[in-house]
Amino acid sequence: MLREIALSTTGFMPENEGDALFTAAIEAGANCPGLPFVEIGSYCGRSTVWFGEAARLCNTVLHAVDHHGGSEENQPGWEWHDTSLVDKTTGCLNTLPHFEHTMQRAQLSQVVKTVVGDSPVVAAAWTEPIAMLFIDGGHGREVARNDYLSWTPHVCIGGTLAIHDVFSDPALGGQAPYEEIYLPAKNSGKFIDVSSTGSLHILRRVK
Ligand code: SAH
Ligand code: MG
Repeated sequence: MLREIALSTTGFMPENEGDALFTAAIEAGANCPGLPFVEIGSYCGRSTVWFGEAARLCNTVLHAVDHHGGSEENQPGWEWHDTSLVDKTTGCLNTLPHFEHTMQRAQLSQVVKTVVGDSPVVAAAWTEPIAMLFIDGGHGREVARNDYLSWTPHVCIGGTLAIHDVFSDPALGGQAPYEEIYLPAKNSGKFIDVSSTGSLHILRRVK
């Protein structure tokens, strides 16, 4: 039922990767009970349905961080621009009403805490250890690097880091999530691979 809601939501999370995100989140909730989940990049809430449902089942909360103005590739003239997400009065992309509508449809509004803001700004004020962090925000190099640097230190030891749009082969997709998040996480010695499904990579923090 909830998968149907996710699949009928505008966004970029394929079904098998959403299912893998859900499974990893259920495990993360069991590994680190009582600690929250955090999603960077929610858009209209497609991935948030899978992740938020796992948070509900684990009796925790999901903080969903997005400025809701869309990434570079969502802006007018770019490949992933969707005119139906443009606010008629401002002429700017605004996914927030769509996100809230999705959370209401999925009955997740009590579990998913909507955090509207720029990811590094929100991270700078963050203090709580995180059971599972899912990074699916901007795919520019600097934005991806900032997400890695500002958020991953908050993942608790034994906690989970999920990264979307990881492509080791440049022919398959942009390199920023791979080179600025996935490789630095591995090279830090703090994260090890757990699994991968499509472009979704799941890692565990070991030290
Ligand atoms: N997880 C979503 C897709 C996210 S698309 C799904 O399943 O469909 C990437 C999102 O990251 C966009 O909504 C964009 O607004 C957000 N984003 C990009 N850069 C950001 C930043 N610096 N701070 C906050 N959100 C950002
Ligand atoms: Mg993505």
